Amino acid sequence: MSTDRTNPPKRTLRTITAKLPLLASLMLLNVGCIGAPNALAPGLHGSIGMPHSGVQTEAIELPQRGDGFVRFRPHSPTYWGNPRLVGAIQDVGRTMLQKSPETAPLVVGDLSGRYGGKIPRHNSHRTGRDVDLLFYMTTPAGAPIRTPGFVPVGNDGLAEIGTEYLRFDVERNWLLLRELLTSHMIEVQWLFISRDLEAMLIDYALARETDLDLVWQAETVMLQPGDSAPHDDHVHLRIACRPDEAVYGCEGGGPRWEWQPPLPRIETPLAELLVQIAKEDPYEIQILAEAGGG
Ligand SMILES: [Zn+2]
Repeated sequence: MSTDRTNPPKRTLRTITAKLPLLASLMLLNVGCIGAPNALAPGLHGSIGMPHSGVQTEAIELPQRGDGFVRFRPHSPTYWGNPRLVGAIQDVGRTMLQKSPETAPLVVGDLSGRYGGKIPRHNSHRTGRDVDLLFYMTTPAGAPIRTPGFVPVGNDGLAEIGTEYLRFDVERNWLLLRELLTSHMIEVQWLFISRDLEAMLIDYALARETDLDLVWQAETVMLQPGDSAPHDDHVHLRIACRPDEAVYGCEGGGPRWEWQPPLPRIETPLAELLVQIAKEDPYEIQILAEAGGG
């Protein structure tokens, strides 16, 4: 169930931020220019903590639509992310459209809440580094069509919608992954996707690509997660922390791949602080703020 926004709890923002000292201090840092380190949050900002237990500051919101992309939930408060991730989605949408003008828009599922934390429907998606991307689909005859939503694709590449079928657009979905893997704005940590669809994409890539390192990277980062849905109706992109972000609290969420720069070790006091921040619930603050609370 999602939060009932028409009837927010009768607590003010002030009360809630008072209960969340760590996050509140981060939000204050976020409002003005970032100056002297705060005693509670010494220099933490951006994507803070792990994808399953973190928060974020200085997030930006993906617009409802743009060149080559559209939000699946136009009015949801869950489209805030690390500026690099938001930029990469906009970039990829634009590029896909330039390469093939008949491409239907990339339909984008949830990113994160404005200040991160737990959001409906997800366990991760807490630090602005995760996004669900719906697949490019075609009609059975191969004409690009905007996907109607999260439609499970079988191992024959077909999705059944009522009495009709849509086809998984292997060519465009590979191009999408290719653009993400070669983007200068992000490093891909994971692409969560079902085993069957991974096999289909890799078969296609092996037949077409001359850059076999790229195919190997794609194969490495694609994974059907064992602890959540099989991801046969979307691909979940997680971006890796950059070394300069790790210094400010960005952490974990997967292995460091050999083609990515190593991360600095996190000091123990920072690790303890991250655990405390992870216990706060910034999504509630966001919903109340947007409902006019406080
Ligand atoms: Zn996801």
